[in-house]
Amino acid sequence: MGFKIMPKAALPEWVEQLQAGHRVVGPQPQHGQYIFGDIKDPEDIHLDYPTSVLPPKQFILPPREELLQYKNGGLYIHANTEERTPTVVMGVHTCDMHAIQLLDRVHSTGYPDQHYQARRENTTLVSIECLRPCMEHSFCKSMGTLTVTEEFDIHLTDLGNDYAVDIGSEKGERLLEGFASLWDPTDADYKRINKVLSEKWPRFSYRLNFDITELPDILNLSLGSALWDELGERCLACGMCTKVCPTCYCFNVVDEIDLSLQDGKRMRVWDSCQVHEFAMVAGGHNFRENRALRQRHRFLRKGKYQYEAYGLVGCVGCGRCAMSCLVHITPVDTFNDLYERRRAKGKVQETQA
Ligand code: SF4
Ligand code: SF4
Repeated sequence: MGFKIMPKAALPEWVEQLQAGHRVVGPQPQHGQYIFGDIKDPEDIHLDYPTSVLPPKQFILPPREELLQYKNGGLYIHANTEERTPTVVMGVHTCDMHAIQLLDRVHSTGYPDQHYQARRENTTLVSIECLRPCMEHSFCKSMGTLTVTEEFDIHLTDLGNDYAVDIGSEKGERLLEGFASLWDPTDADYKRINKVLSEKWPRFSYRLNFDITELPDILNLSLGSALWDELGERCLACGMCTKVCPTCYCFNVVDEIDLSLQDGKRMRVWDSCQVHEFAMVAGGHNFRENRALRQRHRFLRKGKYQYEAYGLVGCVGCGRCAMSCLVHITPVDTFNDLYERRRAKGKVQETQA
């Protein structure tokens, strides 16, 4: 929709202007890591951050959310889908943008999720181009999420002393209204942008041993793999991998009832397919009662089920789950291991023939 250049020194002034009409959240350092939180002082925002502990998903799909209130034993019910505070999320990495694209698709397909949509409509996304790998575990280049071409309202690229500002929507345009510290790019600016972008690609490496388009088939052929039992033996069922994941959205619904047992709130809270109780149903039956089944479900969901249901792979290669897992279960190792086992099996069959 438009392209501008903004001096980096003007960023705090822009954030301050946005704060007049929005809640502004972005990455900030805390205890040696980075977290997304409310920006109180515009100088505190750190757009040059490696990764965040929790993804920015938390502002569209909060860990705890009130769905409805009820009174008089349910005679009065009020769904909480009113307009949310307009929120600007600054500094969203490209992998997290791809994750939000998937979440948007999931929550607008079939029965649209009104709570999600109310938040999403009031959220403006300012993403930033990743110019170097954020950590050893990320594998965004293999997953095709190293850059973003849609979904953003504004996309920033760090040019050193300035930002290239790519305006992707009317919402994005509105964020820049009345902000004077911008100029139209010159030929020299376009050359700078091209140089920065062409220099970034060689810094990232492919970490999967196969092309991502093969992943659904590899998983389909690996349903009976012994690897699931091996992962199940190691897994602690802590659920941390799903808690930090930008594409996980499974939840539990719990009622918080007052002492009269007449009035209460219905809450949606994040849940994890990796914990024992997740698949427990009436009568104490559990349709994924062991950790091997739960690990298999997790990885099939990431690499096959989501793709088949929504046309997008359910893992964006952020690496957060690998960083968080105490027993070092990682998507890269798992996917590569399944691929190598299939390949070895194919070779054995070829030799026998
Ligand atoms: S973080 Fe690791 S140990 Fe915990 S549930 Fe996930 S895979 Fe299992
Ligand atoms: S599965 Fe792991 S690497 Fe993939 S998107 Fe989720 S947290 Fe990131």
